Amino acid sequence: MSKLVKLECACSKVKGELTVVKRSFFHVHCLCCDCQEFASYLNNKEMILDQHGGSELFQTYPQYLRITQGHDLIGGVQLQEKGIYRWHTACCNMPIANTLSTATIPFVGISVKLMKFKDEQEKFEVLGPVTVKAFGKYSIGDMPSDAHPRFPLSFMPKVIGFMLKGLLGKRNNPSPFFNGKKTIVKVKTLFDNRV
Ligand SMILES: [Zn+2]
Ligand SMILES: [Zn+2]
Repeated sequence: MSKLVKLECACSKVKGELTVVKRSFFHVHCLCCDCQEFASYLNNKEMILDQHGGSELFQTYPQYLRITQGHDLIGGVQLQEKGIYRWHTACCNMPIANTLSTATIPFVGISVKLMKFKDEQEKFEVLGPVTVKAFGKYSIGDMPSDAHPRFPLSFMPKVIGFMLKGLLGKRNNPSPFFNGKKTIVKVKTLFDNRV
């Protein structure tokens, strides 16, 4: 059985919907430096990151994510050469999601911050517990005791299974961030500006 979760940015201009389908997602907590850099880029670290520099992501298939309002307020950025695309709201600088830089891969990591729940209990019922707390070595301050320093290799078979299922089911498409092979807006690249 699937569940529908409402998404809304901090200023309510961008709205969307996520279908949560059993065994088709990972609920992760990411402490990586790239996620932290993204929050810095958005100039919104306080709202986005926890005290360790972590953020919660819900990784699923693009087909399950719909933006219903504020399409013209979506921006995209790529922090590293060959890095992932990070999508955000231009109105209130909230992360929306990250995807690969190609529309063919059935993967999207949605910011849990956008999701609307009545309370923590409802959130837990829908998303379940965090299944992996990754890249703890980039934590700000002490690494949380339940975090993995990098990404646990034991998790890889599950990721591969997820990708295969997504590819076979063509769940990369439709995506809120791609029209066919092209991105909905020009993705800003930050690495060009670096010396
Ligand atoms: Zn907004
Ligand atoms: Zn990360």
